[in-house]
Amino acid sequence: MSHFDTGSCDSCGGKFQYQLVHNGFNDSAFAYCDSCGSSALLSGWYERIPTKAKLKVHGPVNPEAEALLEPCACGGRFRADASPKCPHCRASISAEAARSFIEANALGTKGGWRWQGSWNGIYSILIEGRNTKDNWQRPNTSLERTREG
Ligand SMILES: [Zn+2]
Ligand SMILES: [Zn+2]
Repeated sequence: MSHFDTGSCDSCGGKFQYQLVHNGFNDSAFAYCDSCGSSALLSGWYERIPTKAKLKVHGPVNPEAEALLEPCACGGRFRADASPKCPHCRASISAEAARSFIEANALGTKGGWRWQGSWNGIYSILIEGRNTKDNWQRPNTSLERTREG
């Protein structure tokens, strides 16, 4: 899955590389950082999903799981209802405005495929490779560090 397409921001016109992720094929859930718009992908196959997360895959992350995610490197929080953002001006990217470039780039469009038109369907978007995976909080990280050495 290293195919990138080019999209553009409807606020500043800046271009960026993106990938669509089908969270049904991947058995994953997703969230976006409410500050920088990076995405977090949470695989349903990850071995150390906290049981309290009750992770539901195939769409935006459920509230119990959202509460257990590590914050983004930028200091923001990953949220199910946040939007991806333009890497240039940080405006939220409109899921409807994204239709023009997503459908133009998608090979399936000719066969009748249509963009879902929202950020809370089965597809999520990775922009400029700004994504993190399986970023569960580890409350006893410091203990583990002590034990290991
Ligand atoms: Zn922009
Ligand atoms: Zn962030």
